[in-house]
Amino acid sequence: MNAPLYPTYARYDIAFERGEGAYLFDTDGRRYLDFATGIAVNALGHCHPKMVEAVKRQAGRLWHVSNLYRIPEQERVAAQLTENSFADAVFFCNSGAEAVETGLKTVRRFHHGEGDPRRWRVVTVEGAFHGRTLAELAAGRQEKHLAGFGPSVDGFDQVPFGDPEAMKRAVTDETAAILVEPVQGEGGVRPMPPGYLRALRGIADAAGVLLFYDEVQTGMGRTGKLFAHQWDDVAPDVMAIAKGLAGGFPVGACLASAKVAGAMTAGSHGSTFGGNPLAMAAAGAVLDVVLGDGFLDNARRIADLLNRKLGSVAAAHPGIVEEVRGLGLLIGLKCAVPAGGVVDALRDDGLLTVPAADNVVRFLPPLIADEGHADDAARILDGVCRRLGG
Ligand SMILES: *Cc1c(COP(=O)(O)O)cnc(C)c1O
Repeated sequence: MNAPLYPTYARYDIAFERGEGAYLFDTDGRRYLDFATGIAVNALGHCHPKMVEAVKRQAGRLWHVSNLYRIPEQERVAAQLTENSFADAVFFCNSGAEAVETGLKTVRRFHHGEGDPRRWRVVTVEGAFHGRTLAELAAGRQEKHLAGFGPSVDGFDQVPFGDPEAMKRAVTDETAAILVEPVQGEGGVRPMPPGYLRALRGIADAAGVLLFYDEVQTGMGRTGKLFAHQWDDVAPDVMAIAKGLAGGFPVGACLASAKVAGAMTAGSHGSTFGGNPLAMAAAGAVLDVVLGDGFLDNARRIADLLNRKLGSVAAAHPGIVEEVRGLGLLIGLKCAVPAGGVVDALRDDGLLTVPAADNVVRFLPPLIADEGHADDAARILDGVCRRLGG
């Protein structure tokens, strides 16, 4: 592998040439059950007919015009998102990193607009992952991501996982917002403890700071609700989403309440590509499907089934899998053996998964998965556990 590319990725020596539903086919024609979904991106699996149709239609009509003009396709997707969430306004961009960065700018700008520019710091939670911009590296505070990138960007504080008292102490009169993933994804599929988001809401309201969710990974139906925080019914003021939003087309978005979004006046932020008609055709098609009658009910049903099946495989092989955790179709297997080896063995047997921190194997099935896929995944995991000798 000597391609003229940055050596930033430790890639598996495998390439795919076709995808169909929950399956990928490699260049040798071998079929894989795709429970990696491009890291929670292919929410509808591969080449969903509704997405293919929408993108084909738009590709022959108009790709890009810039936000100098009104973009009806963007207005439609914004309406789909706001009608189904806490939010009143949306800013579109092209990745999770940009979505979170937009949120970070929004929370600072909000307090500036309120005449309280001293509030500019953001408190995050240990184990967080918020993206790869310089500010987001500082927000996540992972040594392995920061190494060699110079002085860390100022303005971020971090508290231990799931500890509301520590959060309360960390919020000062310089704090603009609390930033949290309802379930940490990269950090090892760690759901926040019950009641934690509600406690954060209380702390934020009492101190006059904003609550900012990073739902880049947990959003768009991944956990069985459109957004993970809807399980707790605790709304934020600002929220970043991306990964599954356009099912594989690069789209991110930052959502906010009217009073917060109002601080981002004309000229305060922008994106050349953000929300262009082609991207919005993809996002609109995904939302049409995900918001369709019974779609999320079905995702929740499969999630319950898959969690049960994986749970019984894990129980039979405690020497390999210590715990099955997560929410909905964001599933983590905390391993007793190196998780990377389990991911490799599963891939050898035709099942794609993703490693995460804390020695976890992530199962991120497409939301269109069915019982047969759940059966196959559990069977393959069982075979791997036997082979690994647990
Ligand atoms: C993936 C991810 C990001 C970064 O998204 P990119 O599209 O890779 O920039 C940010 N936050 C969370 C929670 C993520 O899972």
